[in-house]
Amino acid sequence: MRHVIIIGAGPAGYTAAIYLARAGLSPLMFEGDQPGGQLTTTTDVENFPGFPEGVTGPDLMEAMRKQALRFGTEIVSARVDSVDFLERPFTVKSGDRTEKCSTVIIATGATAKRLGLESERRLYGRGVSACATCDGFFFRGKDVAVVGGGDTAMEEAVFLTRFANSVTVIHRRDALRASKAMEAKAKANPKIRFRWNATVDEVLGVETGKVTGIRLKDTKTGELSEMKLDGVFAAIGHEPNTALFRGQLTLDHQGYVVTHQHTETSVTGVFACGDVQDARYRQAVTAAGTGCMAALDAQRYLAEQGS
Ligand code: NDP
Repeated sequence: MRHVIIIGAGPAGYTAAIYLARAGLSPLMFEGDQPGGQLTTTTDVENFPGFPEGVTGPDLMEAMRKQALRFGTEIVSARVDSVDFLERPFTVKSGDRTEKCSTVIIATGATAKRLGLESERRLYGRGVSACATCDGFFFRGKDVAVVGGGDTAMEEAVFLTRFANSVTVIHRRDALRASKAMEAKAKANPKIRFRWNATVDEVLGVETGKVTGIRLKDTKTGELSEMKLDGVFAAIGHEPNTALFRGQLTLDHQGYVVTHQHTETSVTGVFACGDVQDARYRQAVTAAGTGCMAALDAQRYLAEQGS
């Protein structure tokens, strides 16, 4: 019987592990098959405090992992297949391993939706990005596109105008999904233009190793056209990694774990932190912050239970 199991190994999970291990609670962490999470797909991270020269996403995650191990976190390199939060102690299953525990911290994160093109995959981190806050800085004076018509796309487009020479919003319909306020802000920005009724058919530049443009497909006529660009930001939404928790915890209409009273979920003793419960900020530093909160909340809960 474990005090606490952490599911997920990004900045939220590692931070929770560091706090719990230092508190002597010997956490067990299931790190899944992409330890480090979304940060392992980014290159330079320049906005995580404490790294004046920047740090790469994989290096930052490796450092957090080492720190979690140093204080006695037990890390299992496997995915969790199922959980049972309906009965206590809670059950967490992975392969033929079954663990029982008093508390669980969910830190399974979210996944940025991709366009689904092979060229997008090959040029990811080489001009293709899913995070303007992370990578916008590298596009000073360049021409970029943002794909999507929601609030994230508008926010990213406006943010990118701080650096980019021009930002073209590419949307598959002729009306935005974004709120009126965000739409007005984007439309009022002289650096932003819109390409309506279009999807990205291909990201160009695979042979040169960096983005040189995109091929667009008109969704009404099927006509193909090309646009020269230095960067493409996909802003077509995120999906929280919560399939495992359906029927066990309250999820919101987008599938995010609902937390209240800080990091508590609908099941007392189960806590959630990081992007799996945050559609709004989605930053490494906010994920780490909520990871700390979840660890302290779990610690308090265990103390109340007399563990
Ligand atoms: P949304 O799901 O709201 O929007 C996704 C956009 O991407 C839609 O315009 C959609 O088109 C388009 N899209 C989806 N799949 C594809 C595809 N395969 N190819 C091309 N386009 C595609 O996601 P967001 O991330 O924008 O927002 C998520 C939530 O977070 C929303 O509730 C939003 O309001 C909120 N949010 C709030 C902010 C704020 O208040 N400051 C900032 C950012 C987000 P279509 O419209 O045709 O479906």
